[in-house]
Amino acid sequence: MLTDYRVRQREYLLEISRALTAQLNVDELLQMVLESATKILAGQAGLIALREPDASFTARASYGLSHALMPYFAPLLTDIPNDVDLHRFHIPALAEKLGLVAGRLGLHLQQVVALPMSIKQELIGVLYVFRAYGTRFTANDRQILASFADQAAIAVHNAQLYERISHEKRRLDAILEHSADGVMILDPTLRITVFNRALTRLSRWPAAEALGRYHDEVIHWVRLETDMDLSAAVAGGWPLPAAHPLYVEGDLRRRGGGTVSVGITYAPLFDQDDHLVNVIADVRDVTRFREADEVKSVFISVISHELKTPVALIKGYADTLMRQDACWDQETMQKSLEVIVEEADRLNQLIDNLLDASRLQAGALPLEMDEVALDVLSERVARLFRTQTERHDIVVQFPSGFPVVVGDMGRLEQVLNNLVSNALKYSPGGGTITISGVARPDEVLLTVSDPGVGIPSEEISRIFERFYRGTKERHQRTPGAGLGLYLAKAIVEAHGGRIWAESRSGEGAAFSFAIPRQSNL
Ligand code: ADP
Repeated sequence: MLTDYRVRQREYLLEISRALTAQLNVDELLQMVLESATKILAGQAGLIALREPDASFTARASYGLSHALMPYFAPLLTDIPNDVDLHRFHIPALAEKLGLVAGRLGLHLQQVVALPMSIKQELIGVLYVFRAYGTRFTANDRQILASFADQAAIAVHNAQLYERISHEKRRLDAILEHSADGVMILDPTLRITVFNRALTRLSRWPAAEALGRYHDEVIHWVRLETDMDLSAAVAGGWPLPAAHPLYVEGDLRRRGGGTVSVGITYAPLFDQDDHLVNVIADVRDVTRFREADEVKSVFISVISHELKTPVALIKGYADTLMRQDACWDQETMQKSLEVIVEEADRLNQLIDNLLDASRLQAGALPLEMDEVALDVLSERVARLFRTQTERHDIVVQFPSGFPVVVGDMGRLEQVLNNLVSNALKYSPGGGTITISGVARPDEVLLTVSDPGVGIPSEEISRIFERFYRGTKERHQRTPGAGLGLYLAKAIVEAHGGRIWAESRSGEGAAFSFAIPRQSNL
């Protein structure tokens, strides 16, 4: 009879321990442990308390007791010795405490056994089994429960580890997914195993499409800035365990067309035996650096050219006038001095424009607002330019009673000056330049049109950019720094207005800008 019971106990134990190792959810696992422990010892109720980081114990699972009763069992969870030895483990006055608690709750619980759950000599919890009848727990009961408790401790420990690891993994996944840089992780055969959101944004490859493909199927370089790409590096023996990260920069082909400038840092990851486990690639959008580089080099070439020309002219004329051996007539003197003054003005203008552009970059273009009559202003600008050209007619067309606007007179004059000077500059064959105005209910519109060389349609969207001067063949013929329209646009926009160009190559150009009207003017 007794042997039968023992055999059944052992079988049960075995079955349970198998089930336990498969369970990774801590709460369900504790529930299972407790239920089987209670049944195995022919008890009626049970409790598992786990040790908290502050060394106190909290009931984490109960069997045969309603959950609401848990707090009442707290006295049984105090004075727990930090002792993992099964034979010495003893909670003082445990039976008395149970008597008190059971009495208060009206429960028929008479016997209690408590055993340590430990892992690597460290107490991680206590397993309690209660009996509703008077039969004491024997040494054999404790023995059975002990091996069982240890098994359970290992499983609990594993489950806790698993929980912590999966929590960490979720955290890392979230960090990767939301990283501002593109991130991809490759396996040792260079197949993509992780492809984050930022990389989808950069490359236009949906993660689902990219995952499982080889690196080279997704990363196509249209142009390389660095010596080699990943395949070339790998063919050359990268990575060795001591290898540095590999940096590749260039233009990447996007899925569905177009390119994006990126820099990719590939970092190899090795295991303890120096086997390559992963390659982690960090993909960064370098478009802005590229643009900044381009602007810088354009700036240097445009400015040096633009500064050199007037300086050379001024120096040339001044040198000539200074010659001791020559005697210049009044007219030559006058003409030469005029060139010197004109070129000095040009230099001044260029310096002003550069200062304005740098102020704009710093985010400030202060306006001094006043009432401005754009028709009067246009007349003034036209008069000034008429003295500078013989080949062009400058016509001003405004309806009478043209409304005034609120604006910065000096700045708006700068815009008009630039548009008219461009109209002259880019109409080398002469002809009629028209400055016309239209009053609309909510804005006034000014247009400067010329019969000149015009702008090819593919350039129209770029002419308002800083330092943009059109294609080389075109801009080499005329001086300029490519700042005029950039500043004009900034000024018009600071007034709450818009500026645009309409043109066709060879058919002249019309530049218009609109300034909002104040309702009371
Ligand atoms: P800049 O005249 O100093 O080059 P802008 O910023 O004033 O600089 O003009 C930018 C470019 O736009 C010019 O280089 C030229 O190619 C083009 N452009 C401007 N105005 C005209 C125009 N009226 N006709 C043809 N092209 C123009």
